[in-house]
Amino acid sequence: MEKGLLIVVSGPAGSGKGTVNARLLESPDYAYSVSATTRAPRPGEQNGKTYWYITREEFERRIAGGEMLEYTEYCGNYYGTPKKEAEAVLASGRNLILEIEVEGAMNVKKLYPEAVLIMLLPPSFAVQEARLRGRGTETEEKIRARLERTREELKYLPFYDYVVVNREGGADDCAEDIRAIVRAECRAIRRHPEAQAEYFAG
Ligand code: 5GP
Repeated sequence: MEKGLLIVVSGPAGSGKGTVNARLLESPDYAYSVSATTRAPRPGEQNGKTYWYITREEFERRIAGGEMLEYTEYCGNYYGTPKKEAEAVLASGRNLILEIEVEGAMNVKKLYPEAVLIMLLPPSFAVQEARLRGRGTETEEKIRARLERTREELKYLPFYDYVVVNREGGADDCAEDIRAIVRAECRAIRRHPEAQAEYFAG
């Protein structure tokens, strides 16, 4: 069986990555790996569904034990992808989506050069700002911090493979774009070094 593709989807606040990824996960050939974090659960979040919530000590023990595929410290908390769960998904032939921030994405690329890195963006910085304010759930200070962080995050854009723009109500279009990217990537010659030999052996 062919191994699944490792797909990293990053996106600044307001890019709608959760919604887009949920669309992809509706099909059985895509799977998600639940990350571990040391941050406290927010209302409505569930252990084992949104994240695995663990202590700093436990997280550091897992790092030392080589149990994390990648991890990062973000806003004072650890976030990481458990290796075992992620590798089980890939071995099953399903495509694994990692919804992680830019530093984690760079670590994944180093360890797994075959990973596909996709950046999901709102149509513009101005639209992003309007979306964040429109939510009406965050303080002005938090909104400013998220917008500021976006400038830092986008410095990593040249290291990504694809950019997908999420227009208003565009989650379905974005999911379709990502499926198209994955289909094309699966056919890339560099992923089939054995194609010539297999052709003549057949
Ligand atoms: P939040 O606290 O809002 O759930 O997540 C904060 C940031 O951490 C988001 O950008 C999210 O994509 C990222 N994140 C979530 N899980 C992981 C992970 O396992 N590894 C890394 N590197 N980032 C993660």
